[in-house]
Amino acid sequence: MSTLDNQKLEVWFLTGTQSLYGEQTLETVAQQSREVSILLATSINSPVDIIWKPILKSPVEIRRAMQDASSNDSCIGVIVWMHTFSPAKMWISGLQILTKPLLHLHTQVNAELPWATIDMDFMNLNQAAHGDREHGHLQARLNRGRKIVVGHVSDQRVQQRVLHWTRAALGWHTAQNLKLARFGDNMRFVAVTDGDKTGAQIKLGFSVEAYGVNALVDAVAKVSDKEIDALIPEYLEKYEVAPELKPGGARHESLRYAASQEIALRNFLVSGGFQAFTTNFEDLGGLRQLPGLAVQRLMADGYGFGGEGDWKTSAFLRIVKAMTAGIQGGTSFMEDYTYHFGPGEPKVLGAHMLEVCPTITSAKPRIEIHPLGIGDREDPVRMVFSATPGKGLVTCLTDIGDRYRIVSNEIEVVKPDAPLPKLPVAHAVWKPAPSLEVSAESWIYAGGSHHTVMSTALDIEVLQDFAEIAGVELLEINAKTDAQTFRHNVKWNSAVHKFQA
Ligand code: MN
Repeated sequence: MSTLDNQKLEVWFLTGTQSLYGEQTLETVAQQSREVSILLATSINSPVDIIWKPILKSPVEIRRAMQDASSNDSCIGVIVWMHTFSPAKMWISGLQILTKPLLHLHTQVNAELPWATIDMDFMNLNQAAHGDREHGHLQARLNRGRKIVVGHVSDQRVQQRVLHWTRAALGWHTAQNLKLARFGDNMRFVAVTDGDKTGAQIKLGFSVEAYGVNALVDAVAKVSDKEIDALIPEYLEKYEVAPELKPGGARHESLRYAASQEIALRNFLVSGGFQAFTTNFEDLGGLRQLPGLAVQRLMADGYGFGGEGDWKTSAFLRIVKAMTAGIQGGTSFMEDYTYHFGPGEPKVLGAHMLEVCPTITSAKPRIEIHPLGIGDREDPVRMVFSATPGKGLVTCLTDIGDRYRIVSNEIEVVKPDAPLPKLPVAHAVWKPAPSLEVSAESWIYAGGSHHTVMSTALDIEVLQDFAEIAGVELLEINAKTDAQTFRHNVKWNSAVHKFQA
């Protein structure tokens, strides 16, 4: 059961004007702005509702609207548009208290200029071309994080860009309300998974709380045979279960134990209001298996996950899953595992010990059991599959000491060059853009983590918008990336961020 589709959230459509124009014109402004908002709402198939609000004519009305948007739990962002001229000093106080993401839509009611009939009445009514510039000046002066979208709302490009921003705003809302449970601490001596959890909550909103692994051990012990009996048929129906794991098979008990881990984890997360979690193979306490199948199934339901206590990647996975809800493709915890330098085109083989999310495959996963050299426990049950080919992104959220940095890389998931009959874990093979050489060199210069979020559903513009809303640096590696320019960008960005800090 997905945890991503139960949200009733809103973006507010705010139209700026002023009292100067008289009642009749203002009625027309209100009518037309409502039409624009409805056209936008009905054409973009947004995961959140776009709600028209009465036009804003004075500083008091603007401040009130921004206060309401900021305090309303359902409102995740505001779209502003100056249909007429709305002197921007009227907006200072309101914008200073707005705490929600902002999109400045630079549009007008008419796509075409009515050459033959245009008169001064039309000119008085349709002033966005300069009204929005006045507004934009103030936004720039306030150095307000925002997205500007230009064009007529019937234009698919405009619709798509607004849609991407609503998804980014959803990601920000998710981050602000996210609670993450860690079982144990992070893997000993590892740098990139460590970090400042209080700082993360100040910057990104999510809270990270630790539990001793015994909390999970106890929860597993409490799972009844009846609950396990009820879950096994779902495994048998949805996946190709290895004969030895099936009821009556020699190792069926291991599958039942994996099921008890899933039930216990799910109960723990639901009852605590958690949407993301971490485990650590170094700290399994009385757990008999490293949770594999359970983690994979929970990720498929929208939970964030990070291995080895990696709470940043876990939170980021949940955020990306929220931003891509309902889009074809999938999103998984991932690790750059090993390379194919050649012959043929160089590629990355991505995988993890067990924990790869089955949303990235369209094939029916197999449930298998194999030894795991790491973790010192019984053989763990896991889903095995190969990711479905397609365009995607790998991206990470790292803490580089004085700030957060998101790194992203365009990739193309491809079919493995040859079958991988002895690889007992789910995996993805991809070609990173512009090449493995430039991608890896740039990624490593950027200090990007080895754990990533891999998505075949995430558009780069959504990630760009999220980074802008969050005020987090984004370094992109794509088909146009040149390693030397990228290397310099990393340095220049550091200087820029020091001035901004
Ligand atoms: Mn790892």
